[in-house]
Amino acid sequence: MELDILAFGPHPDDVEIGAGGILAHHAAIGYRCGIIDLTAGELASNGTVEERKEEASRAAEILQCSLRECLELPDAQLEVNTQAISRVVKALRCFRPKIVLAPYYWDDRHPDHSTAGELVKRAAYLSGLKRYPVEGTPYRPQKTYYYLLSVERQPDLVVDVSAVYEIKERAIRAHQTQFFHSRQEQALTLVNDPFFLRFVRSRDSYFGSLIGSSWGEGIVSGAAMSVSDLVKSF
Ligand SMILES: [Zn+2]
Repeated sequence: MELDILAFGPHPDDVEIGAGGILAHHAAIGYRCGIIDLTAGELASNGTVEERKEEASRAAEILQCSLRECLELPDAQLEVNTQAISRVVKALRCFRPKIVLAPYYWDDRHPDHSTAGELVKRAAYLSGLKRYPVEGTPYRPQKTYYYLLSVERQPDLVVDVSAVYEIKERAIRAHQTQFFHSRQEQALTLVNDPFFLRFVRSRDSYFGSLIGSSWGEGIVSGAAMSVSDLVKSF
């Protein structure tokens, strides 16, 4: 199965937060979208691996993604090493996405988020090398964009996700064990404080305001964007 857009997330809820609207929007207009979680999030304070797997697949269904897989790299010990690069390259050569999404990595507070962005960037390049020793036909995506997690910065592009914002929020809410503090035995975390979801909403509302829309998701290009026809570009 070949994909138009493939989003990589370090943990099974990151893509929903940073790019859930982008995936829902593109799926709704007919593109094949997928999510690959680099880790199963096994070191999270709440939720078992099994629970998180079920939540992740429910969220992918809500976003209308055709694929969700986990590469099972080690949570909180994510590294840019040969083994991790090989797994990402194998996925890229298998699903051949035109566009790749990964976390913006320059200064994210969570080390896995920073590592994930760098890992995917490197793999997207190496995947195109004919002799890079990983199974599959060499393939390099057209472009990698970086979505924002725990980082505040001005995006290079904003995607209007107003029509699908309710879908994004449902996909986030599918991660019950992460974003809700409903059981006494659950640990209090940054993300199950109701403030966190308000923060996501306020950022998406602000990004929307930058393009005159109700809701937007911002992405960083990391390189100059080429435009050949300014009149028809937007
Ligand atoms: Zn994360």
